Amino acid sequence: MVDLISLKNAVTRAYLTKLIGEEGIPMVEKMPEGEVTDEEISKTTGVVLNLVRRALFILYENRLAEYRRERNKDSGWLTYLWHVDLHNLEQVMELEMRKLLNNLQKRLASEKGNMFYICTDGCGRFLFDLAAETNFACPFCGAQLEFEDNANVITALEKRIAEIEAACA
Ligand SMILES: [Zn+2]
Repeated sequence: MVDLISLKNAVTRAYLTKLIGEEGIPMVEKMPEGEVTDEEISKTTGVVLNLVRRALFILYENRLAEYRRERNKDSGWLTYLWHVDLHNLEQVMELEMRKLLNNLQKRLASEKGNMFYICTDGCGRFLFDLAAETNFACPFCGAQLEFEDNANVITALEKRIAEIEAACA
């Protein structure tokens, strides 16, 4: 079995589930050691071959699996030998977290640095400049635009950023 201590971590598991789906998790959990073919993986883990192939491809794209091609001397057929290695997962996740954090910080800066107006009919949210340009009428439906107190949005963003920073520390 592959060392999957990190898979017990809820965050790691959630991330893997997002990548390969709930149905792909047993494949990773019961993955045989060493280099194996997709058919061997399917047989050992009980996950149907199509799902195994799909999951392997996704893991490969995310640098969590690699393969080696071997040509059979007799038949000339190529065999793909797979090896799942979740050691990169931490790095991949850290990168994802950093991207997410970056987006949230940009969003926070925008929330703090701007005034927002919302259409009373629910068409959307507009920046002050645009609202002022249309004389505070919705550009879509003409309804009144109202100032939106975004203190709650800012608080929620700050909380989420603090949570992620704490998780990364
Ligand atoms: Zn509107």
